[in-house]
Amino acid sequence: MRKHIVILGAGFSGMWSALSAARLVDLHQQEGIDITVIAPQPELRVRPRFYETQVTSLTAPLQPLFNATGVNFIQGTVSDICIENKEVTFHNATNNKQHLHYDRLILATGSNLRHTFVAGVEQHAFNLDQIESAALLEQHINGLAQHAQSVARNTIVVCGGGFTGIEMAMELPARLRNILGDEAKTRVVVVERGPVPGARYSQALRDVIMQASTELGVEWLVNAQVEQIDAQGITLKDGQRIASKTVIWTVGVQASALTAHIPAPRDAQGRLHVNHRLQVEGYEDIYATGDVAYAATDDKGNHALMTCQHAILLGKFAGNNAAASLLSVEPLPYRQENYVTCLDLGAWGAVYTEGWDQQVKLTRAKAKKLKLSITSELIYPPKAEKAAAFEMADPLAPFV
Ligand SMILES: Cc1cc2nc3c(=O)[nH]c(=O)nc-3n(C[C@H](O)[C@H](O)[C@H](O)COP(=O)(O)OP(=O)(O)OC[C@H]3O[C@@H](n4cnc5c(N)ncnc54)[C@H](O)[C@@H]3O)c2cc1C
Repeated sequence: MRKHIVILGAGFSGMWSALSAARLVDLHQQEGIDITVIAPQPELRVRPRFYETQVTSLTAPLQPLFNATGVNFIQGTVSDICIENKEVTFHNATNNKQHLHYDRLILATGSNLRHTFVAGVEQHAFNLDQIESAALLEQHINGLAQHAQSVARNTIVVCGGGFTGIEMAMELPARLRNILGDEAKTRVVVVERGPVPGARYSQALRDVIMQASTELGVEWLVNAQVEQIDAQGITLKDGQRIASKTVIWTVGVQASALTAHIPAPRDAQGRLHVNHRLQVEGYEDIYATGDVAYAATDDKGNHALMTCQHAILLGKFAGNNAAASLLSVEPLPYRQENYVTCLDLGAWGAVYTEGWDQQVKLTRAKAKKLKLSITSELIYPPKAEKAAAFEMADPLAPFV
């Protein structure tokens, strides 16, 4: 009987899971294993670049790559996972409900902004979480010049001073100048609940972020909690009011809702606990990877973060191990000792750190050059050629 590996999601981890599983099956010349990816689109959406302009162009086609590597693709959105029957339910491209049996399931459906009860966020705030919402934000910013000049028009508030909020905020002074002209008195404010900017980061990284903020004129409001957002601006819990036509919400990320269909331990962000083979705790035939997996990266207590660098390698290990279990070959324990960050700081440049203690290794133009090579080359899919794709899909191939 043929066996079936079904992968839900075609993001960084889903794509690499598929390629890695296909690689191992090919290596063992096994003809009886099918690999299928189900996702709403046959394309990789490059989420780490959604703070940039021309957002709708930040995708890469996957169908040619899947054709070249023998991976099946089904366009669809999964709504249910039935563990007892080993079956997923999805709506296909023409919105018909269908079911698909799996022998091994790889959950790779990513993450999204967490719902918040802060008043007005859903109605009035923009976000850059998904390509559609990021494109709406870009369209809105590009249209600001058509509004009458006012403080609210010239002010952008970014709620949340994490990596996403910082990269977005640092980009905005130059963008606003382009759109409103050099003479316009513009303002970019980061509203942060923590006691200092970047409280979670190393002192060295914080210092660089503050230097760039000062030089670019990006303001930080710390110890600040949002009470309400409306069409004219934002009100903080201490009563402060900032008039703004553009409030961007970047606070809180959670794992895909499909994780809730698997009754297993999850972390505070909804990620499924997995073992070193990336099997979901208690389920030998279900793997979780990328933003839906809570996985130890080493023996020192570090865990994968919701980042591309983790999603890519987690994907390669999950695909390899799902295929290995069907081929009865030894799985590879997931390990990812290295951890780096490369943060875009707009016209100032960028900052690159190494290690979990975030030692600053490069800044300004040198870091920016590295950032560009990461976001425009390293994280993109490989060429649609079997040999090249399989070489890169090897979980033990060099990576960051
Ligand atoms: C604005 C922003 C900036 C970021 N910046 C960085 C950065 O600088 N560096 C970094 O390392 N990381 C960054 N990240 C995080 C990074 O993008 C994620 O960690 C990464 O995309 C996770 O990969 P993934 O494969 O788990 O999920 P995703 O890439 O989100 O892919 C999920 C896939 O699942 C599909 N899917 C979802 N639901 C279903 C369903 N019900 N049925 C079928 N398919 C489904 C989606 O369509 C998609 O194909 C950023 C994220 C955002 C939003």
